[in-house]
Amino acid sequence: MIIITQRTATEEQIEEIVAQLEDLGLAAQVSRGESRVIVGVIGPEELLREKPLASLPGVEAVVPLAKPYKLASADARGHASTVDICGVRIGGDAAVALISGPCSVEGREQMLSIARLVKDSGARILRGGAFKPRTSPYSFQGLREEGLRFLAEARNETGLPILTEIMDARDLPMIERYADCLQIGARNMQNFSLLKEVGRSHLPVLLKRGFSATHNELIMSAEYILNEGNENVLLCERGIRTFETGTRYTLDLSAVPILKSRTHLPVVVDPTHAVGLRAFIPQMSVAAVAAGADAIMLEVHESPETAKSDGQQALFPETLSKLLPRLRAVANAVGRDL
Ligand code: PEP
Ligand code: MN
Repeated sequence: MIIITQRTATEEQIEEIVAQLEDLGLAAQVSRGESRVIVGVIGPEELLREKPLASLPGVEAVVPLAKPYKLASADARGHASTVDICGVRIGGDAAVALISGPCSVEGREQMLSIARLVKDSGARILRGGAFKPRTSPYSFQGLREEGLRFLAEARNETGLPILTEIMDARDLPMIERYADCLQIGARNMQNFSLLKEVGRSHLPVLLKRGFSATHNELIMSAEYILNEGNENVLLCERGIRTFETGTRYTLDLSAVPILKSRTHLPVVVDPTHAVGLRAFIPQMSVAAVAAGADAIMLEVHESPETAKSDGQQALFPETLSKLLPRLRAVANAVGRDL
């Protein structure tokens, strides 16, 4: 951290800044420029947490040099980490994984049937929402525990691990009885008490980027989960809100290399929610694999026109099965299996 002083700072004020740092057990390195003085802070910056240095007389700005995230940082490990979801490895040099299933669990037959189809298409993880974050309280809210039971049945039949969203920390013990991986949705990315709660779970967490969140805000939310002891966090780019209205959100593919350079965490791309229009999702899935995504999440439905949520963006099962060889070819071209 460096402290930049005001041009008008007096010698007494600079001495006071240095004294305050030394009082805390930190060393100060004073550099005198032509018009102002810069004080470098040497030592563990945690010691400054409670000290409002920016409000000391003579201080113009306090500039942190270290990254605000420690556990998620690429430096924390020195290599990309891999998250294991019941034997399906995601991240590092593992094969790119396809996560697929309907937006919502709608019924037993629907879930079993789509689970078989996505498995035949090459998906390695089954998704389905039993608790749905809907904009309107009058829209379908999910089948709750019944939905979890249908998901678990589909897992037992197909062998695919299941991923499902948690919206309320009070549901965690129940969801943990069924699910293999938790999802934190975009709208809850900064629900810090929920993040802390899933940070104490034994299940891996797929953390979706809030649609108005920066890359660093997403990483800081992952830091909350890691800080509670849960090391199995996957970051997920799912589109951000921009001025463009041609798609539901705007898929920020630059997030993939950027998140992978700043953190050691696997990065998943969800082109479905980003694009929001069935016709353009295959192209953006291919692009996401080319950009280095560790997994791709795609919603599918056998009759999207009757889907209880997100029908306009659900792929037909045949589109999914035709897409897989294309994704594999691109993965191979960038040195990955799929
Ligand atoms: C979902 O995965 O169905 C979902 C609601 O996603 P998001 O939180 O990204 O909108
Ligand atoms: Mn959805």
